[in-house]
Amino acid sequence: MAGVVRMATSDLRFPTSRELDGSDAMNPDPDYSAAYVTLGTAAGEEGHGFVFTIGRGNDVVCAALEALRPHVLALDMDAALADMGSVWRRLVHDSQLRWLGPEKGVMHMAIGAVVNALWDLAARRAGQPLWRLLAGMSPEALVDLVDFRYLTDALTREEALDLLRRAEPGRAAREEDLLRVGYPAYTTSPGWLGYDDAKLQRLCRQAAADGFRLVKLKVGADLEDDVRRLRLAREALGPDVAVAVDANQRWDVREAIGWVTALGDDLAWVEEPTSPDDVLGHAAIAAAVAPVPVATGEQCANRVMFKQLLQARGLSVLQLDATRVAGVNENLAVLLLAAKFGVPVCPHAGGVGLCEAVQHLAMFDYVAVSGTLEGRMIEYVDHLHEHFVTPVEVVAGRYRAPVAPGAGTEMLAASRSRYAYPHGPVWSGQTPVDVTA
Ligand SMILES: [Mg+2]
Repeated sequence: MAGVVRMATSDLRFPTSRELDGSDAMNPDPDYSAAYVTLGTAAGEEGHGFVFTIGRGNDVVCAALEALRPHVLALDMDAALADMGSVWRRLVHDSQLRWLGPEKGVMHMAIGAVVNALWDLAARRAGQPLWRLLAGMSPEALVDLVDFRYLTDALTREEALDLLRRAEPGRAAREEDLLRVGYPAYTTSPGWLGYDDAKLQRLCRQAAADGFRLVKLKVGADLEDDVRRLRLAREALGPDVAVAVDANQRWDVREAIGWVTALGDDLAWVEEPTSPDDVLGHAAIAAAVAPVPVATGEQCANRVMFKQLLQARGLSVLQLDATRVAGVNENLAVLLLAAKFGVPVCPHAGGVGLCEAVQHLAMFDYVAVSGTLEGRMIEYVDHLHEHFVTPVEVVAGRYRAPVAPGAGTEMLAASRSRYAYPHGPVWSGQTPVDVTA
């Protein structure tokens, strides 16, 4: 039996809070982090996966990864890669670990990292980038990856098969199209809450010059500031670049409605207006702030929550995340749900490695699921890419389709040792942050 002979986990943290990169109304001082896992086989193959966090607690995710070690080391690699649907179910439905969720939170995210590492290994073995490996699978093989438990009132296996079969004829043309012109991106780089007005305007002008057609601003700390920053951003961007806003869960439902109404009705969307678990709250906000679309998903715990948000019309832009739910398999379920409800997917990215990972899901969606780019964009933030073996390439406002084999998730070995927490050279000697200050 050729199985996983090596599983290594590491707690990697980047001190991004020192520059206020990534600052928003709820997360004023993130240190972008990865709970990182490497799987190795006796044949020397490797798969890399990670969970994105923003600092403290990254060690908790590493502990959750360790709790999966017995499952991982028991895998027969050939059998596992031939039946990833069963692997997913075995991990997610572990009869004791399941109590910690079920299917949400730290344990679920750790499962996602393992699942994504297995997909990385599968794509390398196939000599293909992940998006192409998935886009080359038959509709039957794709639906076998999905656990339809809890979904069938909204999406059955047969309906999912239908969706995938309908997209089959155009696959080759769309794949060519992606390789030629790439996938649209939008940028969040100018809009962090900790940046002053001059930096906001400078970065907005840069974004427009770089070819982006949508810029996202963080909002929700102070309404007057938000009105001013929105005006300054629009001045700098000109009429051809749309503006979305992101409250990062800052508001109660009524407060969200008032605040968004005050910001005007020409926003591209309002993102995470309230608690990610408040399905009915999202529906109330969406109805009240229309025509401004409501976007959410980066902290949506699982496919069941996405199902409810779609059923309740609580979102009209779906922002799946590569490392929040349990990996590629569950994100395939989410893409299928979005296609069933006719809602565009604009994945959450940024952080560390999220752009590298999620581009594969968006490109696969275009080729084999939704079949369209209408209203679709992948988030882009221009930092920390240099730590990856195959960093994203965003040119003229578009992601170039990656061609290197794998899932894009491998971080450079040098970065992994330099940013290891707390003993890597970047961290050793640092005074711990006073969390009560
Ligand atoms: Mg966001």
